[in-house]
Amino acid sequence: MATIFTKIANGEIPSYKCAENEEFYAFLDINPLVKGHTLCIPRREVDYIFDMEDDEIARFQVFAKKVALAIKSAFPCVKVGEAVLGLEVPHAHIHLIPMQSEKDMLFSNPKQKFPADEMQAAADAIFAEFQKL
Ligand code: 5GP
Repeated sequence: MATIFTKIANGEIPSYKCAENEEFYAFLDINPLVKGHTLCIPRREVDYIFDMEDDEIARFQVFAKKVALAIKSAFPCVKVGEAVLGLEVPHAHIHLIPMQSEKDMLFSNPKQKFPADEMQAAADAIFAEFQKL
């Protein structure tokens, strides 16, 4: 059975798209730690990121780098932090989080909820910056 992230990448479940190519897809985390918190996934289903082949994980990281640059342009921040957990959804994903301080990376913080129009605007801003790269 397809994972929820496969359904998102295929457009069967809606998402706030931030970037994509043939192999990878990026979208806003539905329960972000901060505004602009983005997830990058491979379209190919693989649960554990460190089961990916060397060349695939390298391309995945290069994609995440471009998304991080787009996030930094769209959301002024000190740096974009990267994290891999994968404890909830069994489909490899990289969290990218615009940080003002290290506290923004604490996954034990309460998750936030933003109105749909703000989520759409955030995704559109990242998408526009990604297109420039
Ligand atoms: P992890 O597996 O890395 O522990 O956490 C999974 C992350 O995916 C969480 O931050 C959660 O908010 C996010 N997430 C789970 N389900 C969905 C979903 O259906 N849509 C989106 N956009 N994000 C999701």
